[in-house]
Amino acid sequence: MSNFVPASRVSRIKVSPSTAASARARELKAAGRDIVDLTVGEPDFDTPENIKAAAHAAIDRGETKYTPVNGTPALRKAIISDYQRRLGLSYRDSEICVGGGAKQILFLALMASVENDAEVIIPAPYWVSYPDMVIANEGKPIIVECPQDKGFKLTPEALEAAITPKTQWLILNTPSNPTGAAYTRAELEALGKVLLRHPHVFVLSDDIYDQVWFEDEPTTTLVAAIPALKDRVLLTNGVSKSYAMTGWRIGYAAGPEPLIAAINKLQSQMSSCPSSVSQAAAAYALTAEQTFVTNSVKVYKDRRDYACARLNAIPGLSCLAPAGAFYLFPNCAGVIGRRTPEGKVIESDLDFVLYLLDGVGVAALQGAAYGLSPYFRLSIATSMDMIKAGCDRIEAAVAALE
Ligand code: PLP
Repeated sequence: MSNFVPASRVSRIKVSPSTAASARARELKAAGRDIVDLTVGEPDFDTPENIKAAAHAAIDRGETKYTPVNGTPALRKAIISDYQRRLGLSYRDSEICVGGGAKQILFLALMASVENDAEVIIPAPYWVSYPDMVIANEGKPIIVECPQDKGFKLTPEALEAAITPKTQWLILNTPSNPTGAAYTRAELEALGKVLLRHPHVFVLSDDIYDQVWFEDEPTTTLVAAIPALKDRVLLTNGVSKSYAMTGWRIGYAAGPEPLIAAINKLQSQMSSCPSSVSQAAAAYALTAEQTFVTNSVKVYKDRRDYACARLNAIPGLSCLAPAGAFYLFPNCAGVIGRRTPEGKVIESDLDFVLYLLDGVGVAALQGAAYGLSPYFRLSIATSMDMIKAGCDRIEAAVAALE
C-alpha cells in the first residue's frame, strides 16, 4: 500500500459530478443495463470532415512540434477575426491566449489571480467546475442563487448585494450550463452599471456555448454591451461545443494584457502549449464556412422544442425553454414528497435522479450539483430517439409515483 497523501488542495475539491455521473451511466451500460444516458456534456456529432482534413494537412506539413506558449499565430489571428466577425470586438494579438480547453484557461485565469480567500461571485445554478476551481486556487466561492422566476439570471440588485471589498471576480456564463439561460444586452448593461461602480471587480465571461444559440436576436457579451469594462473582462471560449471538438482540447481567451501575460507565464511552466495539430484544426474551424454550426443548432433546437413540450406535459415537472446550449433544467418540485412503487419517499432532486436511474434507466444529474434545487439536468446532445425514450421513461416514472 502506498503511503501517498494528496495535498490539501486536492482534498478540498471533488471530482466533477457530471463526469462522475457520465462514468456511472457508461458502467451500467457496460454491465448490460438498458440506460438512456442524458448526462452527456458534449455534442453527439462527430467533428466535421473538413476540420479533420485540416488536422491531417497540418500533420503532413510537419506541424508536429511545440508552438508558441500563447498559441500559433494562425490560431490567434483566427480568434481575433472571430471576435470581430461575430461580436464586433477588436482585440490585439497580445490580448489573446490559447490553452488545452476553455476549462484549462478558466483554471489558469483563477490560478493567475486568486489568493488569500479572494471572493469569486458565482451565480447559481452554475457549471459544476467553477466552485472547485476557485477553492483549488485558494479563493472563496460566493454563491448567489438566481431563482427560476428571475430566469435563472443574476439581477443587478443581487450582484450589488454580493460585492464586498474582497470580491475579485464575477463569473458569468451565458448561455448557461445547466439552464441555457442567456443575458440580453439590456440585462448585461444593467449588470455592467453595477460593475462600473466597483472597479476592483473583474469578470470571467464564459461564452463557450454562445454559438449553440436558438434565438433570433444574436448573442452578445458584457464587453460589447459596456465597452468601458473591456479592461476588466476575460472572455473565454473554445471550439469544443460549437464545432464538436471536445477531444481536441482547444480553448482560448481574450482580455486585458497583464492577465493574459500571467496566464501565458503559468502555461509556459505547465504544458508549454496545447497540441499543435489541434490548434491547426481549430484555426480552420473558426475561419472556414460555418455550415456545421448552423446545421447542428437546427438539430438541437428541434430536440429542445420536443423535449420541453414533453416535460411540460408531465404533471409535477416544468421546464423553461433554454435560449442556448444543449441542456434542459426542469423543475421537479411537484415530485418531492411523493412515494416510489418501492415505498421510498422522494425527498430531494438527488432522490429523484436516483429513482430515474434505478427505476427506469434514465441517467440525469441532480440540480443540487449545480447549486439549485429541486431541479435536474438533462442533456439533449444525444439522438432524438434517445430523447424520446428518455421522455417516455420519465413520464412513466412520474406516473408511477404515489
Ligand atoms: N464552460 C462550461 C460552462 C462548460 O460546460 C464546459 C464544458 O462542459 C467548459 C467550460 C469547458 O469546455 P472545454 O471543452 O473547452 O474545456
